Parts: sequence; structure tokens; C-alpha cells
Amino acid sequence: MKISTPLSQICAAVLLCCSATTTYADAPAPAQPWMNAKLPAAQRAALAVQAMTLDEKLRLVYGYLGADSDWKKSKRPAGSRPQSAGYIDGIERLGIPPLYETDAGLGVASQPGPDVRKGTALPSGLSTAASWDTAGARAAGALIGDEARKFGFNVLLAGGVNLLREPRNGRNFEYAGEDPLLAGRIVGAQIAGIQSQKVVATLKHFALNDQETNRTTLNVKIDDSAARMSDLLALQLAYEDGQPGSVMCGYNRVNGAYSCENSYLLNTVLKQEWGFKGWVMSDWGATHSTIPAANAGLDQQSGMPFDLSDYFGPPLKEAVLNGWVPQQRLDDMALRIVGAMFEHGVIDHPVTVAPQQIDFRAHGAASQHAAQEGMVLLKNRDKLLPLADGARRIAVIGGYADKGVMAGGGSSLVYPQGGNAVPELEPKVWPGPVMIYPSSPYQALQRKLGKATLRFDDGRDPVRAAALARDSDVVLMFATQWTGEGMDVPDLALPKQQDALIRAVTAANPRTVVVLETGGPVTMPWLEQAGAVLEAWYPGTQGGEAIASVLTGEVNPSGRLPMTFPVSEAQLPRPKLDGYPEQADARIEVDYHEGAAVGYKWFDLKQQTPLFPFGFGLSYTEFAMSGLRAEVRDGRLQASFEVRNTGKLAGKQVAQIYVAPVQARWEAPKRLGGFSKVNLASGARTSVSLSVDPRLLATFDSASKRWLVAAGDYRVTLAAHARDAQASSVVIHLDAASYDVQGRAIKASH
Ligand code: BGC
Repeated sequence: MKISTPLSQICAAVLLCCSATTTYADAPAPAQPWMNAKLPAAQRAALAVQAMTLDEKLRLVYGYLGADSDWKKSKRPAGSRPQSAGYIDGIERLGIPPLYETDAGLGVASQPGPDVRKGTALPSGLSTAASWDTAGARAAGALIGDEARKFGFNVLLAGGVNLLREPRNGRNFEYAGEDPLLAGRIVGAQIAGIQSQKVVATLKHFALNDQETNRTTLNVKIDDSAARMSDLLALQLAYEDGQPGSVMCGYNRVNGAYSCENSYLLNTVLKQEWGFKGWVMSDWGATHSTIPAANAGLDQQSGMPFDLSDYFGPPLKEAVLNGWVPQQRLDDMALRIVGAMFEHGVIDHPVTVAPQQIDFRAHGAASQHAAQEGMVLLKNRDKLLPLADGARRIAVIGGYADKGVMAGGGSSLVYPQGGNAVPELEPKVWPGPVMIYPSSPYQALQRKLGKATLRFDDGRDPVRAAALARDSDVVLMFATQWTGEGMDVPDLALPKQQDALIRAVTAANPRTVVVLETGGPVTMPWLEQAGAVLEAWYPGTQGGEAIASVLTGEVNPSGRLPMTFPVSEAQLPRPKLDGYPEQADARIEVDYHEGAAVGYKWFDLKQQTPLFPFGFGLSYTEFAMSGLRAEVRDGRLQASFEVRNTGKLAGKQVAQIYVAPVQARWEAPKRLGGFSKVNLASGARTSVSLSVDPRLLATFDSASKRWLVAAGDYRVTLAAHARDAQASSVVIHLDAASYDVQGRAIKASH
């Protein structure tokens, strides 16, 4: 191994150390001081990196695709887990295991191929966000972490928290909606849950990768302070709550520079200002250079041969040897990777492949519970739901409801136990296959509604479907919208003429419940005619059971929308999706002129009435919220209030606190400041107290890098959703205050 003199000091230490070290198998434990679990992770990492040769460090920063690829005509590395997303060689002689990477946002995913891994799929990310339940999100993360560990993975490429700016984005289902507080808290909890299983989680996609059309070439233009108060805030809160071991930089460019060679985003914001100590890996195919990327803060190239060149292979070695990438930078990369491995238990608790130890029954029940928590009842005319005992003849129409429930496509796809219930659907190749999980709502309903007669129609012929509807007491109309990675939907209409089908069915029988299995918001031109609407999202591998439980009233729906449903695309900041229909490799500009006014903030700003507002969702019971008080305690705005269940059934309410300046101007009239989901028996009441993160009361000043709260009056509103006419408000005066980037109070200097 040749090491040039200018890089001397550390390298000399390395050589010394290496010549003294024998192979891992021969070395007694005390000779490997980094294996002392009593030492802090950072110290262990420093000791281990000191013992590494240049080539060993380089090995850590170079990732492979863990699957054979026809497209690239490549074979997976022998050590990788079959059909997995990624693999990085370990350093056996030093006791550093390989990194086995899998996508895991909704469960343990599998790359397509002959021998897919079959696991438990949780409901979509939007469903988890719609639960507004951080404890549930954490439990879901722990389930995924457990399953991943037993499948032999130690790095999970989850959680994703790109903000829902673009309702047509094909990947919205993987993320957590439009509000930075809700999305950040939910995904932060998921990350913490994953890492509780002694595996590393990956916050992604850093940053502003909010549409799939031209995702690898587009340039997002956004003002810094607007980004800090929107997409970056969601990432920041998820980072703070979850403390992920790694962060994945995205495909897109941001203000001119690719995310994976964007020194401002990676070095300045993420590492310096937020204090991130883990490693930055590129998305698969998102590395574009050696020296700029390495010096801009990218720590690991992923998924080769996805990139055009092996930038972090021999070219990086050359760049380090000739000094274009400083030796300390390579050491820092290795330190970050190994440090996160020590920190999160990956080295002390090596993974083994033991899928037989996975409790699929328990995981299925947990997935069903999660799906139930996320379902949002959007309309319920004359209490059509829950299904009354008297309903004798029930029509079930469309949506493959006789077979199962829909899943989203792309790298997050979890293959289910039992296989695809409708394997003939197109596309069958990336981002397909279109997957229908074998959990049939129709069959689950049949089991639960023994006395009723259920009849199914696939909905292909609207005339036939309408005839069945007319001849039924109640109709359960299932509609699906398949979305997937790498493509956006053209518009917010349901595909395959389902809107026309629903029109025909609801015209034939107004006692029609529309059950939506969609990747995100859809417009509903038939809404007036429908009796009830339940948004079930992609409900995971037990989705049919979950839907049936809510329809029959075994479970009282408690989900609330994590995004606004627009009436039409004309209400969006970009009525036409930039770049759509996609022209491959077009280097388009996407101007986020709306700044931080994302979702309901945009609708408030423009005084537009949405189809359904952010935070909205009905229950089978009723709630009253009262006694709102606001005060500043320990320098923080606190809101306290009471929630009562005034109805006849047990149920869960999501209390939402919105904050709004009276004099000062923000990007939009109000922001979500806090939320709490409470579970109440009929007639029960509870007191809730929330504290508001000061950053949600501030604007970010890019020049001073501070969050500034303007002195003045602020309206604090207790509401059931963003457009709640029953909401109550109080006004409180706040003194001027400033906070550092991380939201820590800065004392005024005299
Ligand atoms: C996606 C990532 C994913 C990676 C590995 C990419 O296409 O954007 O989210 O983790 O593939 O499968």
C-alpha cells in the first residue's frame, strides 16, 4: 500500500498500528480496544479508524446494490443479502461487520426477483401520519427494526420525511404529509423505534425531493429561510427526535447544486448547525462526482453500479493520495460510519439471518392496529356508518376488494406472506409490480357480518355495478389509486374511470360508502352524492381486516388528514406539475415560490376553501373541547384545555393547537403548534397540556442564523382541524426572543 508523505501523521499511525495487528480471528479481544463496550462510541470509533489502512477506510465508503441487476448487467456482492438494496464490505480483521441495507419505510422491502423476502407491511406513511400518534409510529418502527434484524439487516433506509408540497408526487405515500411539525414528530418517532432494535435508521431524502418527475435532474429553487421553516424543519425535527445514524441525500439539485454535493446542505446545515454525527449516504444513483461530493460532505457512495462512475472507489483513493480530498475528510467519513455503528449497537449486536424467529402473527395484528388508527372518515351522512345490523343485502364493488388491498410501488414495496393477490396487474416491472395484499375486505366483512348477504361486483361494467347497487340496502364501493416511486400521477382524479363508476353507483344508491385506497389526496367529483367516505390509504398486509373493523364499528375511526385535499389542481401553487409529462433527463427548474406556505398554509394565504382541510376526520362519537388557556411557562408557550367525549361510544380525538401572529407576518396566517390524541370512553373527559416549540412561533433569519420571535400578540387556537368553525381562541402576548438554529434560547446581551 502506498501512502504519500503529505498525508503523513494519521497514516503513519495507521501503518504502525496495522503492522502490529494480526487478523481478527487471531487477535485476543484486549488487542482491539475499540471492542470495549464500556467506552463511548466516539472513542471506540476513533480507535478503530486509527487501526485502519487507507484501503480499509475506502472500503467503508463504497456501497453496492445488494441485488443482481439485468438493467446494469451486474451481480450482487457475494456477502450481501439476496435481493437487498445495499451492501458495504466490513473489515473483518478489526471486527467491523458489513453493512446490510434494506428499504424499510413501511416494513422490510425486497428488491424484485425470483426469491423475494416476504414480510409484514405496515400501512403507508401517510396513514401513520394520519394516526397523529407518535407512540404508534414508534411501535411501528420497532416492529420494522425487529423484522429487519431477523432478516439479517443492520441499516434501514427509513424514515422518509419529504414534505407533501405536491399532491401528485408518486412517493407521498412513503412520507408523512404536509406539516413540518406533524411529519417531523411522526418520522422522528419511527426512527427512534427502528433504532431501539440496535440497527441504524436513515433519514431521507435530504432535501426537498418532493416530486418524482425529473427527480434526478431537477433544480429546486427556494429561499433559505423558507426552506428552514418547511422541508428542512420537518427533517430537523425528525433528526432531533430520532437521532438517526445515517442520512440519505436526495437525487435532486437544490439552489443549483446536487443534494449529494451540496456543501451548504450537508456540511453547513446538517453537520455543523444541526450537529449530525452520523454518516451521509447518497441515494442510489445520486452521486455525481468524487472531489466535490467528498468535500461537500457526502460520506458514502451507495448502490453501485447505479452511479455513472465509481466516484468513491479508485478515484477517491487517488484524490486522497494527491490531497484533493484531505486525509482528514476520509478519516471523518470512516469515523462517522463506524461511530454510528458503535452508537446504535450494530457492532456489539451483530445481525444474523433468522427469519423463522419473526412473529408474523403478532406483527400482522400490530399492522392491522396501525392501519385502523390511520383511517380517516371524511363523510358520514345520516350515520350511514358503522354498518347497521339491519343491513341485509350489502353490495361490495370494485377495488379488488374480493381479493385484497392496494400497496404503493417502488423501493419501499414489502412483499407479503401469501403473495400478490392479483398478480396480473400492470405494470409488472419497476416501479411495479402493482401489489394487492391478500387481505380481502370482502372476506373480512363476510366473517364479521354473518347475517347479511354480501355480493361482489368487480366494477368493470358501471351499468352492471349500478344494477347491483340499486338492488342492495347499502353499497361498499372500493376505489384504488396506484402510485409509485419514479413517477407522479397526472392529476388528482381516480384512475381507470373510477370516478365515473362511483357516479353511476352513488346515483343508483345514495347509501353508498366509498372506501378509498389511495397514495394521497384525490378530488371527488361524486362527493355530494356519496353517503360516506372512508380514506383507508394503503392499509398494509392486514388492510382488509382493518377496513372491515372500521366499517362495522368494531373500531371507531380516529385518523385525521395529514394533508389538505384540494377541490382541484387549480388551487395548488403549481396547477401544472413542473416537467410533466416527463422528458427523460430534462434539467428543469422547480420554483417553490410559495416558500414555506405549504398545504393548509397556502390555502389560508390564498383564502381558498379545500375539499377537506388538514387535520380533518370524523368519528362515530362526538367531542367537545373547552377551557383553553395559554401561558408562558419556563420560557415556553403552553396551551392547556379539556377534551370531553360527549357521544355514546368510546373514541379518540386529535386536539390541535394552531398559532398565529396578530401583528407580525409569517409565510401564512397560522401554523400547527402542537397536537395530542386522546382516547376517551363515552362521557369521559381529560385535561391536556401542550408546549409549543419556539421555532413554530418564529421566523428563521438566514443572515443571523437565528429563529426570531417578534414581540406582540399571538392567537392560540384549539381546533379539531385547520378550518374548524367550532374552534376557540385566546390571545397571548409574547416578548421578543431569539433562538439558535437548534431552537435553544439565546439570552439577550447587554
Ligand atoms: C430510493 C431510495 C431507496 C433506494 C434504495 C432509491 O431509488 O429513492 O429511497 O432507499 O432507492 O432502494
